[in-house]
Amino acid sequence: MDFSLTEDQQVFRTQIIDFARKRLNAGVIERDEAAAFDRDGWQACAEMGLLGLPVPEVYGGLGLDVTSSMLAMEALGYGAHDQGLPFAINTQLWTCEVPILTFGTEAQKAHYLPRLVTGEIVGGHASSEPNAGSDVFSMATRAEKLDDDTWKLSGTKTFVSNGPIADVLIVFAKTSQARGFGAGITAFLIEPKTTAGVTVSPPIHKMGLRSSPMGELALDEVLVQDSQRLGKVGAGQAVFSSEMEWERSCLFACHLGAMERQLEKCIEHAKDRKQFGQTIGSFQAVSHRIANMKLRIEVARPLLYKVAWLKDRGERAVMEAAIAKLYVSEAYVQSSLDAVAIFGGYGFCTEYEVERMLRDSVGSVLYSGTSDIQRNLIARFLGL
Ligand SMILES: Cc1cc2nc3c(=O)[nH]c(=O)nc-3n(C[C@H](O)[C@H](O)[C@H](O)COP(=O)(O)OP(=O)(O)OC[C@H]3O[C@@H](n4cnc5c(N)ncnc54)[C@H](O)[C@@H]3O)c2cc1C
Repeated sequence: MDFSLTEDQQVFRTQIIDFARKRLNAGVIERDEAAAFDRDGWQACAEMGLLGLPVPEVYGGLGLDVTSSMLAMEALGYGAHDQGLPFAINTQLWTCEVPILTFGTEAQKAHYLPRLVTGEIVGGHASSEPNAGSDVFSMATRAEKLDDDTWKLSGTKTFVSNGPIADVLIVFAKTSQARGFGAGITAFLIEPKTTAGVTVSPPIHKMGLRSSPMGELALDEVLVQDSQRLGKVGAGQAVFSSEMEWERSCLFACHLGAMERQLEKCIEHAKDRKQFGQTIGSFQAVSHRIANMKLRIEVARPLLYKVAWLKDRGERAVMEAAIAKLYVSEAYVQSSLDAVAIFGGYGFCTEYEVERMLRDSVGSVLYSGTSDIQRNLIARFLGL
């Protein structure tokens, strides 16, 4: 086992952290309060190469391997105080760019990837529906084939991250009830701003990640060319599962970076704040909380890196990604609660970052499949 980073990885990590501190951290509290997306920050991230980490250079990306892409996300999560922007970037990377790269035709790759990488257009994916969340296959959105060239899509999607600002979304629709989840869902590339019959809602108000816009998508007899189908008919589950493997690891590496910053903040506070004539860090109740935060980070990191390692070897890592996602998300919420406790009443105030981190962390046990669904998945791999 070799846990050391290459020189390139170390240099890129430092560059991203410096960049995030300089370019992304002004006005975070205001953006959180106003639920405002940081388009300038988005553009700056694109210029930094962050919107094209694993995308081959031929499409304008950096062509990095999975491990380096994951390390870059960890660095971004560490350096950027506004976790909404990294969330939007992760959404685009793993649930739009990578699926296009993996399943798209050459024409689809050439059409979308260069503009996604430069930040000119924004992407995401729409799977969840008002009555189909964890039970993805119960989706009511239907795609009916009218002729060789045309599909008709109708249905409603919800919780679509980047939806209100998206130029292209991967939309999942049922193409056959009889074929089940494995072969009954198909993915389509839809351009919500310019396609007749598509309506996108204003941003949904939410508890955390407030600078990352999320909306509903209504599809009313939307006509879609067959050339906009992503992957084979019935391959939607394969697209979805591949997306989740990336998202459940690389997005959660971003959360790991945030946890590292949170730990440093708590150590600083515990060394600085005095009660009963001594620093609060000298109380075992406080120092043990901090020790547990460190423990969670040290356990989380190899779980995530193992997924990257497997993927870089060309292996699937569905169960490993579920384990990493489950652990990191629950660790993130617990450490965020601990951070608030360590900051006391200040932890409840907006001025100190810890309350926002707690709000931001809660979504992580829900998106990319809830904790219960990850446990179901792991149990299934164990033959249960
Ligand atoms: C911030 C955020 C961003 C999101 N972004 C996107 C996006 O970009 N695109 C997208 O398509 N979706 C997105 N989602 C939706 C997300 O994928 C769903 O919220 C998630 O899959 C859960 O579905 P649900 O909310 O309908 O909950 P439900 O499925 O209704 O679950 C409710 C509760 O029941 C439990 N439950 C359900 N089924 C089982 C079971 N079989 N066994 C045990 N427990 C079960 C769940 O664990 C949960 O506790 C996002 C969600 C959030 C919060």
